[in-house]
Amino acid sequence: MTFNLPIIPPRQVTGLAGQGASRGGGIEIPIYYPATGQQISTLIEDGSAAVAQAVAIARDAFDKGPWPHLSVEKRMEVLEACRTKILENVDELARLECAATGLVLKELKARHMVRAAYNFRFFAEYISQSKGEAYTQTDNYITTVTRRPVGVAALIAPWNAPVALATMKIAAALAFGNTCVLKPSEQTPLSLARLVALLNDVLPEGVLNLVNGRGPVTGAALVANPDVDLISFTGGTETGRAIMSAAGQNLVPTTMELGGKSANIIFASADIERALDGALQGIFSNNGQQCLAGSRILVERSMFDEFTARFAERAKRIKVGDPLDDATEVGPLASAPHMNRVLSFANMAREDGGSVLTGGTRRDDLGGGYFIEPTAVLATSNADRCAQEEIFGPFATFLPFDDIEDAVSIANDTQFGLVSYIWSYHLPTVMQTQTHLRSGVVWVNTPMMRELRAPFGGFKSSGVGREGGASCERFYTEEVTTSTPIKPVQLRRFGAET
Ligand code: NAD
Repeated sequence: MTFNLPIIPPRQVTGLAGQGASRGGGIEIPIYYPATGQQISTLIEDGSAAVAQAVAIARDAFDKGPWPHLSVEKRMEVLEACRTKILENVDELARLECAATGLVLKELKARHMVRAAYNFRFFAEYISQSKGEAYTQTDNYITTVTRRPVGVAALIAPWNAPVALATMKIAAALAFGNTCVLKPSEQTPLSLARLVALLNDVLPEGVLNLVNGRGPVTGAALVANPDVDLISFTGGTETGRAIMSAAGQNLVPTTMELGGKSANIIFASADIERALDGALQGIFSNNGQQCLAGSRILVERSMFDEFTARFAERAKRIKVGDPLDDATEVGPLASAPHMNRVLSFANMAREDGGSVLTGGTRRDDLGGGYFIEPTAVLATSNADRCAQEEIFGPFATFLPFDDIEDAVSIANDTQFGLVSYIWSYHLPTVMQTQTHLRSGVVWVNTPMMRELRAPFGGFKSSGVGREGGASCERFYTEEVTTSTPIKPVQLRRFGAET
């Protein structure tokens, strides 16, 4: 079986570190189309000199450029222009993203790119509402607290939803007056390279820069650069640890949006049809590669067998295949090593005493692409590796529970704490469960629903800090306290006595 390419991508992808900057200097990294396994492009890595140059350009644009000092109205206009650029180029951006990630094109166009455009509108509207503080506790002083941009923002993105995730960071950083250096994942640089070029048509020179390459090379050079003032990172937990250590050397603030192993808790008091749809959507959306996947499905024991059987039956019928086909529900995984890692968890589940309900094998009939069958396993306990480790694929792990206490105890028994899902129409059950869950977000009777005004982020190894309206404002700005006397105040007159 062969699949057409979504687009003919550029032969080479390089960083875009402003005008006059040298590019590359590092190795060539092949980019593959996950649906076929064929090489479709080559990334030229930015070495430390190119990264230093990109940061210097962003520094200059911050220190000397107009961007941090533009009026809110002017900045809103530019953010709106960014939104328009994305909306005018949805098809091309979605196809480039599909080419490197294997995500289903229809989903990319309908959800990811629309959301990417909205990220700019959201922050444009947000800054129009931003408030400061003023204190007048004493008769003689007014003290104000205002917010200023922090400076040069290093934005580091993962491969699983490059444009949607990176635009959250770019839009927020720019809206609050910072300049940026973006580093996409070396696996999926195509769509973000095009996006940065498009946005640079409407942004002032040097405000948004792009460096490309591997994490330990290009990424490490970026986060260690003393001219970087803040780091916003989305990616794996181990990488987050490395970046926070590096950030500690320069004492720069970080936000860490990291991995998850989220519990999807289904009580017998749920609307079972909706819970079944929600559980399938929660683990198989985005080809199963999402931080907020409901990857541990905890089902009340009284209906465990029936629920898992029905889930497996539906999972078997999921349409796996060509990302360009509108009927496709799950496309290929992002890379060959990732596919092999995901599949290895089916064997681990068996070795740990569990069983494979459905899936667990590669779809060889679909050619050389990285397709696997949507998979569901029964774990023997929450200590099993398939219940503890983030698998990051279309792979659900089931466990039964007896009551609220049991469900909460299993849900919390993990290093992660990103999101949780609760399915029940019994209000006390929902509230008691919600109160005890240790995760940053709880969704009740719904799959993922992102409210951009509300904080998003994790407990424990799922992250540090939050993204979302006010959380982003706090992160991307510094508070400045200014005290001014209303009328001349009595001063101590050192040295005035003769
Ligand atoms: P990753 O940690 O391997 O890479 C993420 C980014 O960090 C890439 O750009 C990579 O090149 C860079 N990087 C790697 N090492 C670095 C270093 N030492 N210094 C600087 N940069 C470095 O993650 P991934 O495999 O691309 O993405 C999958 C992970 O991302 C999963 O764990 C997933 O849960 C997580 N994720 C979290 C969220 C969230 O909002 N919490 C959202 C999406 C993905």
